[in-house]
Amino acid sequence: MHGSTSNDHLIKKEIFGHPTGLYVLFLTEMWERFSYYGMRAILVLYLVTETTAKNSGLGWTNTEALKLYGWYTMLVYLMSIPGGYIADKILGQKKAVMYGGVLLIAGHTILAFQNQWAFYLGLILIVLGVGMLKPNISTMVGGLYQKGDIRRDKGFTIFYIGINIGAFLAAIIVGYIGERIGWHYGFGLAGIGMALGMLVYLFGQPYLKEVGNFIGDLKSENDKKIIQKPLTKTEKDRIVVLLISFLLVIVFWGAYEQAGGLLNLYALEKTDLNFLGLEVPASWFQSLAAFFIIIIGTTVARIWANRKLKGKNASSIFKMLFGLIIMGTGFLFMSAASIQFEREGSSAMYWLILAYLFHTIGELSLSPVALSFITKLAPVKYASIMMGVYFAMTGFGNKLAGLLGESASQYGEFTIFTGIAVFCILFGLLVMLFRKKLHELTHGAEDDEYVIFDQKIEN
Ligand code: GLN
Repeated sequence: MHGSTSNDHLIKKEIFGHPTGLYVLFLTEMWERFSYYGMRAILVLYLVTETTAKNSGLGWTNTEALKLYGWYTMLVYLMSIPGGYIADKILGQKKAVMYGGVLLIAGHTILAFQNQWAFYLGLILIVLGVGMLKPNISTMVGGLYQKGDIRRDKGFTIFYIGINIGAFLAAIIVGYIGERIGWHYGFGLAGIGMALGMLVYLFGQPYLKEVGNFIGDLKSENDKKIIQKPLTKTEKDRIVVLLISFLLVIVFWGAYEQAGGLLNLYALEKTDLNFLGLEVPASWFQSLAAFFIIIIGTTVARIWANRKLKGKNASSIFKMLFGLIIMGTGFLFMSAASIQFEREGSSAMYWLILAYLFHTIGELSLSPVALSFITKLAPVKYASIMMGVYFAMTGFGNKLAGLLGESASQYGEFTIFTGIAVFCILFGLLVMLFRKKLHELTHGAEDDEYVIFDQKIEN
């Protein structure tokens, strides 16, 4: 797009029908998520473990630990706003990802030291690091595809599968090392994961030449002019659509993120975990969503792309609403589980499995789609900050999820599960009524998507 070099054959090369750069970003983000989810998996456990234990923790109460956890998971995503802003105004996304990675390696490594100040400093560095890296690497994925390329949504789904491979492995490996060998080894391992991610990113730079560059560094005067112009009516309308769609995002994550809290406790305390005479660990259910995403991710993306090519309704807004409704429906299985618990004293595992399956189909229809949508709609000069605002909304969703989960002790699980289901379904259907209006406001940003063949590949 911006200038050409003798390395163009490298940059344009593809693997499995997608730009090679996608796999560089895939692996970088996979390791970043490995470190994030690995550390997150042991954080609360470390906080509440007695100071006198063999593998000693900080001896906090459950309430204190959950409070810090709530703030931490919200802040990492809130920091995406300054992270995106810095990328747009000063660094460009590519360098911002690099700095974010360095902050994360430092943060996780410092956590490996057994010290109070090291603990807080480590957390602060991780919050800043995720804020710099997460929104900007996501925007870079969009930069790999031309406008109108139908592969973009699928590319984001592939990227999302990388996220979940990282999350899946992290819970198992870092969880095991942290709990059984030592918390600080677990934290250190998260740091090593991030360092591997940065190595991939550094070596993959030749495949990322054309993406994530700082606007101020653009070569052509013409490109610079286009970006410096004030926002047009179309661009403003598109920002409005994005902001409205972010409401769906808060509701979605506020419900979905019961996974780590209320659903986790429900698995532990109220579910019959006996399977063929073996006791399934409750924490295994935490890997279920990631597992489903890895298995069905590309199928869900293909179904949506085929619908679109056949001219059927598959706009991003439609997919996101579908995602919200189907995820909400998943909670009805948990209502059924609560009824069974009331009657029989425990509920069957399949309710949780079905709920997670529906949650995953919902997540795949909303989360990667939202990332892709932002890269289609946001004006270039605000590309990263809009991504930052999106992640901040997911951060609020996380906090909302914690509040809802806590209220279950007051209202009972059945009321909370059913309430979440009914709210998500009704809210989704309500916004569905305005779907066409919202679509109009996108001014055709995703109307003409078709299969684009890369000219350079064909040559
Ligand atoms: N689970 C996804 C990830 O880790 C989405 C998180 C989010 O959007 N808050 O990237």
